[in-house]
Amino acid sequence: MLAQNLQDIIARIEKARIAYSRHQIVRIVAVSKTQNADAIRALYEAGQRAFGENRVQDLCDKDAALEALPIEWHFIGTLQTNKINALLALRPSLLHSLHSQQLAHALQKRLEKQGQNLRALLQINAAREDSKHGVAPESASETYHAIRETCPNITLCGLMTIGAHTDEQRKIQQSFEITKKLFDTLPDASILSMGMSDDFELAIACGSNMVRIGSLLFAKGRFL
Ligand SMILES: *Cc1c(COP(=O)(O)O)cnc(C)c1O
Repeated sequence: MLAQNLQDIIARIEKARIAYSRHQIVRIVAVSKTQNADAIRALYEAGQRAFGENRVQDLCDKDAALEALPIEWHFIGTLQTNKINALLALRPSLLHSLHSQQLAHALQKRLEKQGQNLRALLQINAAREDSKHGVAPESASETYHAIRETCPNITLCGLMTIGAHTDEQRKIQQSFEITKKLFDTLPDASILSMGMSDDFELAIACGSNMVRIGSLLFAKGRFL
């Protein structure tokens, strides 16, 4: 059933991607934050390699349970400073949620000490919601450049945003468009992480090349 979900989502992504550009490649991060290790293993066996978690402790537990599998872990949640060491020990493939210079500096300190490098995306609060972390669009460029200059052990690869929390398509689209516009102005930005279960096709239409999909992927029963 998970394999079928994955196939259905890939088909929908494929359609959206080709409508945007035949040259666009879109990667899926399977958001497994509400799932146990068995569900992750089942989806891995269906071919999925990148998984996203939003709590460091959960990531540690699942990584330990799935040690034998070469899973590519993405961290997509709010990172507390006191969890930095635990996260870095897992050598995550990508941190989607770098949301401030302050966090970048705290990470840099640890990374330098450990002679380690971390790939990260700057999180943009494109919809300007108080409930969300992220840099305001107007200060994003300055923050992006400042982190590049002052944090040599962080490799900034692009941007992440969460679509506006509303049923209004127009507003969700706006938050994706703002982020895409910014993305196009930044040096070495190759990853644009936008789109979740409810809005991934819209995100791809706006230029996303990495979608973070949880509930739809792990849904019981067909959804198409
Ligand atoms: C939970 C979560 C997702 C996945 O959301 P779904 O609606 O379940 O697809 C994506 N991104 C972030 C940052 C999340 O916290």
